[in-house]
Amino acid sequence: MVEDMTTPLLSDSEAPADALPVGLTSPTVAILGSGDFSRSLAVRLVASGVQVVVGSRCVNRIPSGLFPEAVELRNQEGAVSQEVCLVFMALFPEHYCSLLGLQSALAGKVLVDVSNGTEMNIHGPSNAERLADLFPDSLVVKGFNTVSTWELQTGAHDGSRQVMICSNSTEGKKKVVQLARQMGFHPVDMGGLSAAREIEVAPLRLFPSWSGPVVITFLLFLFFYGYGFLRGILLPFLAQGHNAFYRLALDLVNESLPAVALVTLALVYFPGLFAAWLQLWRGTKYRRFPSWLDNWLQRRKQLGLLSFLCAALHGVYSLCLPLRRITLLRLVNTAYKQVKAGTEEPWDELGVWRSDLYISCGVLGLGVLSLLAITSLPTVGNTLNWREFTFVQSGLGYIALTLSIMHTLFFGWDFAFHIEAYSFYMPPSYLLAVVLPCIVLVSRCFLLLPCIFTRLTRIRRGWESKRNCPVLQHHHVVPNGIP
Ligand code: NAP
Repeated sequence: MVEDMTTPLLSDSEAPADALPVGLTSPTVAILGSGDFSRSLAVRLVASGVQVVVGSRCVNRIPSGLFPEAVELRNQEGAVSQEVCLVFMALFPEHYCSLLGLQSALAGKVLVDVSNGTEMNIHGPSNAERLADLFPDSLVVKGFNTVSTWELQTGAHDGSRQVMICSNSTEGKKKVVQLARQMGFHPVDMGGLSAAREIEVAPLRLFPSWSGPVVITFLLFLFFYGYGFLRGILLPFLAQGHNAFYRLALDLVNESLPAVALVTLALVYFPGLFAAWLQLWRGTKYRRFPSWLDNWLQRRKQLGLLSFLCAALHGVYSLCLPLRRITLLRLVNTAYKQVKAGTEEPWDELGVWRSDLYISCGVLGLGVLSLLAITSLPTVGNTLNWREFTFVQSGLGYIALTLSIMHTLFFGWDFAFHIEAYSFYMPPSYLLAVVLPCIVLVSRCFLLLPCIFTRLTRIRRGWESKRNCPVLQHHHVVPNGIP
């Protein structure tokens, strides 16, 4: 691996125009520290054609072969006293003070702080700002901490290619940006050093935009699973001694998943409608939405993908139903009863229609939902223009919602109108699941009424009602410009 990485990733002809000059005249980059990050960074720098010198407190302790041959190993003073243009601080920030003796040697040089934060909500200066305080004569740049050692080793094609960079020094930032490009990364300028805290905690974030949607989906699953357990298993067992606990593993999961998928899909479109009604009521689009609505609007993609996951799982579970032992036993039992009674099962035309319709709507709904999921991938979504994206996410989204509602209603058929559907005075869970999606669909239909649609379109194009904008909008300007 190390040998592979010693050949430059970019040939001279492929290198970006503003890359650092490669070859004998290439400026040396120093790395202080000989740990994991230092080693991976050195491998990558050498592979990009950069001369590297590693500065260690104890060079003799570094096992031979740990760094590529082209890397020069020196003590800390020796490494930074060379003609280096950049110094990577590949050590933990609590050890920065131990380098204070190098202050004069590091003066005027670019110091790259690669350290990560240790906690999300920590106050006070960032590691990079502390480094800048310790070395006021150096040009401190924050960067490369979001790149893991694995990404450095595997090359630009396999890992994430973005490198977030910030600094108060334009000159320092420019050098790091050039080096990042030369190494095959995409530098992203995050501004001044005050952005360092945000960059430091970036690797600590654990799916920040997913936690809310995942919790909501999980709670919905718990609700429908618990409700189904109470209504279909526990209460019948307590009241009639009927043992149906075997349904816990598959039946109940497969009953809960479509309900969760349907409600979650409705939750994707509900905030958009709520926002539209709020704009209509306020008569302006220039007043901010409450923060909870803003957050909800930003999580629609995640909710949609979770809805797709539940729907897909429901599809797989349903396909597995004939494999169950209980299905075989029931089939044999029914056949035995018919033979014994000497009867033939009459053709159930209505039943056949019902099952075909609900299966067909379910399959179509899942198909459209998969399209939505695919177009939400950045690589696919980026190829669509705004109109195409809106058509898929909104137009096809409502089609998926309608098909899913129809799938549920065909499944229920007229069952909801029979008293036996309400065992223990509890409606079946599919009936509960369909309430919110129906509200969303009806609400959407109201928004399409010409009088409402026209007003909403005007508001979204900047028109404001009198009470919001009494001066600007209704201000008459006379031809000579004097009101
Ligand atoms: P590491 O393996 O523990 O290496 C740290 C190095 O710091 C040591 O090998 C040591 O090298 C040097 N050092 C200098 N002065 C020191 C002192 N007074 N006490 C102890 N060590 C001293 O850590 P690492 O994983 O390479 O991480 C280094 C920095 O990179 C950290 O700030 C980390 O947040 C950041 N980072 C790491 C990764 C990663 O994937 N590992 C990713 C992004 C960022 P010498 O003994 O040769 O002096």
